Amino acid sequence: MGIIVQKFGGSSVATTEKLKKVCNHIIKEFEKKNDVAVIVSAQGKTTDRLITEEKEITVSPNKREHDVLVSTGEQITISKLAIMLSEMGYKAISLAGWQIPIITDGNFGNAKIKSIKAETILDLFDKGYIVIIAGFQGINENGEITTLGRGGSDTTAVAIAASLHADKCDIYTDVDGVFTTDPRIVEDVKKLDMISYDEMLELSSLGAKVLHNRCVEIGKKFDIPIVVKDTAKEESEGTIVENSKFLENMEISGIAKDDNISRVTVMGLENKIGKTYKVFNLLAEHKINVDTIVQSFGESINKNLSFTIKTADVPEAVELLESNLEYISAREIICFDNLSKVSIVGIGMTNRTGIAAKMFEALYEQNINMHLISTSEIKVTVLVNQDEADNAVKAIHNKFFK
Ligand code: ASP
Repeated sequence: MGIIVQKFGGSSVATTEKLKKVCNHIIKEFEKKNDVAVIVSAQGKTTDRLITEEKEITVSPNKREHDVLVSTGEQITISKLAIMLSEMGYKAISLAGWQIPIITDGNFGNAKIKSIKAETILDLFDKGYIVIIAGFQGINENGEITTLGRGGSDTTAVAIAASLHADKCDIYTDVDGVFTTDPRIVEDVKKLDMISYDEMLELSSLGAKVLHNRCVEIGKKFDIPIVVKDTAKEESEGTIVENSKFLENMEISGIAKDDNISRVTVMGLENKIGKTYKVFNLLAEHKINVDTIVQSFGESINKNLSFTIKTADVPEAVELLESNLEYISAREIICFDNLSKVSIVGIGMTNRTGIAAKMFEALYEQNINMHLISTSEIKVTVLVNQDEADNAVKAIHNKFFK
């Protein structure tokens, strides 16, 4: 007997038929004499639909009211699920974020969870209830409804699991775990039995869209195992995200790809202290998110500075830098579009040599040029032409997993 938290994403709860499958997963854990808290998303594309309808009114809605609107989808799911479980003879109760409460900061649209009153849920467990909780929402200290950002129900689930000191948090979705890479690119992908929090964090931020990044951070902080499983499967081991218990890790755990990247180069930047700061401060003030940064060695009076940004941000970034050439003391701005980031991730590379060489060999064999390379302790990222990126992923996958 333990405490199990389960989370079901939008596609898993999309229809009444699918909700029945969800009930089976819940009942199975409950019948094992576990206390069960269930977090759900809005059904199917409900949140997208609400946002589209909102745009029919305005593209710049009042932030408070936006959260009131987009949080409604989850409320439909919790009530339907509780009704269904009751009809099946189980004691189930639904709770919106404010009823627990889940207290967040006041940042509408992207609020962070400050605290959760776990006793509300624990008291209901004591009374024999299965507790069904709306994901993605909370309230701020003024009692106003807030939301946690798109995909935020994962974060609600792991945060609830942490507050209840749950044994684990099962995240049910439409794929059966975390794979070595995107199955749409490589046919013979392998499902990972286990992946560490750090690897998962890297993979998510590098383009693998399995889990909300913030939920992995919470899992890591409170040591909550997160299991990613397929709702459609009756029985599945899925992939467990936890601290690595292996004595030796695989060379790499996964390969991620992120498209629509551009490389911007600031040419002839004066090689003086503070110039690089000026460039990035300008971009930060305009909320342009910068990724990989490479600065050439300035053996002369000038240096070149390259960085990557999302292609969608290019017009604003280039216009901003070009209109400030004098202020930043640079000669010109060059931009290279249609690039993809391809990354390998693995804690195994920390104590092995030759991992980067193996990746580069795979690219060399396919005659794929690398426009930029960056590394961290557990990842190597290269920038390649977008039309060669799938090939790059395939070649690297073959090298490491065949
Ligand atoms: N319903 C919200 C969204 O679509 C939250 C979630 O599903 O995690 O982003």
